[in-house]
Amino acid sequence: MPAVSTVLVVGGGTAGTAAAILLAEAGVAVDLVELKPDITALGSGITLQGNALRVLRRLGVWEDVKRGGHSHNQLALRAAGAAAGVIVKLDVDRTGGPDLPATVGMYRPALARILMDRVVAMGVKVRTGTTFADLTQDSTGVTVEFTDGSTGRYDLVVGADGIRSATRQALGIDADIQGESLGAWRVIVPRPASVSHTELYYGGPSYISGYCPINDRAMYAYFTEIAQDRMRTTPEEKLAIVRGFAEHYHGPWDEIRETLTDPSAIHYTWFESHLLDGPWHQGRVLLIGDAAHACPPTLAQGAAMALEDAHVLTDILVNRDRVSDEVLESFTMRRLPRTRAIVKASRQIVRWTLARDPGDVPALQAQIAALVTEPA
Ligand SMILES: Cc1cc2nc3c(=O)[nH]c(=O)nc-3n(C[C@H](O)[C@H](O)[C@H](O)COP(=O)(O)OP(=O)(O)OC[C@H]3O[C@@H](n4cnc5c(N)ncnc54)[C@H](O)[C@@H]3O)c2cc1C
Repeated sequence: MPAVSTVLVVGGGTAGTAAAILLAEAGVAVDLVELKPDITALGSGITLQGNALRVLRRLGVWEDVKRGGHSHNQLALRAAGAAAGVIVKLDVDRTGGPDLPATVGMYRPALARILMDRVVAMGVKVRTGTTFADLTQDSTGVTVEFTDGSTGRYDLVVGADGIRSATRQALGIDADIQGESLGAWRVIVPRPASVSHTELYYGGPSYISGYCPINDRAMYAYFTEIAQDRMRTTPEEKLAIVRGFAEHYHGPWDEIRETLTDPSAIHYTWFESHLLDGPWHQGRVLLIGDAAHACPPTLAQGAAMALEDAHVLTDILVNRDRVSDEVLESFTMRRLPRTRAIVKASRQIVRWTLARDPGDVPALQAQIAALVTEPA
């Protein structure tokens, strides 16, 4: 018997769906509430590194992910400028093990759909457009009032509600969310036949730009700039900005540029990060994923860390017969060193990028690859 019989998961993103699937598989009765009225993640593409794929396989969705995304094992660095020559092509570490690709690029809503379908298939009770209104806990459980007027009682509440977590706020835990000074423009575009893996451009007017194939037909492309308030930028202005960046890059960009025509397909997001030094729980309410730690996407490890959190939490709960402070503390202790290293390294790459300093990115990437190759 796992340490818990009933769990409420708050948030239906990567962390929340993964935790719900694994806990339900272990025999726990799981409810999941998601604030948004539907579950498909907004946004463009996502890069899933091998260590993320290892957990996705554990969730029983690897075949769907493989079919729905684009697997690749290489990464190219290209020069900004007219020639856009390939500076170096690298074999990416297979951090999930030799039987998984190094990387899968995927359309975010496709990943969200696969995970939520699995959640439902595992018997988790999902309510969208709903969240908690109040959490009251005692030594034996948590009583939850929901925004739809219903109530529930749970052995554990898992707050997987992202970087601005309301669960974290309800616990009175302050997060020091740092803007990383970079903002990212992302857009889904048709994939030129010449692009078969991620390519990155350092230099030129965008600090980092690049693209990652997400299936046979499409890829997501991105530019970064000094983070700005783009709330009042109209869709047409956004399109003009992205096309303006694209003018400065060549090689496959010459083909991509012509396809940048749909203003509604463009997303703008700031790079932000934080790390709770711990503990990640109070009583019987615990935080996972971006609610507990978030990194800028320079190593593409945020979703991987969220998935690993879900795996480690379930591993701990199924191997203990009751919840205690010590049991939940052991979750933070197991996850903190790894997530701290990821946040620190991801921030370092932002700093080098902003300073236009090449730093030693390959050495840092190799160090992180070695770390995450070890199962969580
Ligand atoms: C520009 C950018 C690019 C990125 N690229 C990558 C990448 O390529 N690879 C990678 O691994 N990571 C990437 N990341 C990081 C990654 O997106 C996150 O680390 C990951 O999504 C965290 O998952 P999560 O489930 O913890 O949080 P989220 O994905 O934020 O999910 C939280 C969920 O909770 C819901 N929610 C919020 N509040 C409530 C509430 N009160 N009640 C109920 N539900 C609520 C939200 O609607 C959402 O569905 C990127 C991040 C950014 C900003």
